Amino acid sequence: MRVDVVTIFPEYLAPLGLSLAGRARDAGLLDVHVHDLRSWTHDRHRTVDDTPYGGGAGMVMKPEPWGEALDAVLPDGATLVVPSPSGEPLRQALARELAGREHLVLACGRYEGIDQRVVEDAATRAEVREVSVGDYVLNGGEAAALVIVEAVARLLPGFMGNPDSLLEESHEDGLLEYPVYTRPATWRGREVPPVLLSGDHGAIAAWRHEQAVRRTAERRPDLAHPARAVTSGDLEGHL
Ligand code: SAM
Repeated sequence: MRVDVVTIFPEYLAPLGLSLAGRARDAGLLDVHVHDLRSWTHDRHRTVDDTPYGGGAGMVMKPEPWGEALDAVLPDGATLVVPSPSGEPLRQALARELAGREHLVLACGRYEGIDQRVVEDAATRAEVREVSVGDYVLNGGEAAALVIVEAVARLLPGFMGNPDSLLEESHEDGLLEYPVYTRPATWRGREVPPVLLSGDHGAIAAWRHEQAVRRTAERRPDLAHPARAVTSGDLEGHL
């Protein structure tokens, strides 16, 4: 997958060279290019913002540098991802969908955001997804871009050493993951649940499912996946 990120803070994206994303890069699964939006400005001050039409606080990112940047880095048919608190929520299903694309371009906004016509113009020739990483406001799209790229990259075929580990994770089946434990079996007087030491794979799977259902009901009752919604039957005995 090719990923292009356009930002006024290219250094902010340095972590894309580290850890799992860096490994994917080294393995040739992820080809990341970071671009400075200001290289598409033409004035002495390399201006990327201006006051908002209609008044109000803050500044808005100008359409001209963004238009030129996307003309240069967004080929027809690629997918433009625009981090925005008004976007569709980033969920595992969306990460999986984006992981199926060949080329993602991320446009990192700052200030009060990017002139809306930039998104409209790009949508005439590319898929555009405005994506929110949560119901809170960040200062810029860079941290959101890091989150989106990491969530997507770890789903690329060949990225995870053991692809089965992806299937059991939170949000893959509409449930939060069960609690996990490792050695030692007793730590500070706390025991690992005995079923996990039993060697009975059926009992372990049942316990894990029960824990996942209980956790989801307690922590995120709003989560419901069509394929594995938490039903009242699942919760019997837990509530
Ligand atoms: N005025 C905007 C609003 O109220 O929706 C907030 C702009 S925010 C200060 C600047 C930039 O940060 C946005 O253009 C977007 O790129 C990014 N951003 C902020 N919060 C975000 C979130 N929850 N998800 C994704 N991107 C976000």
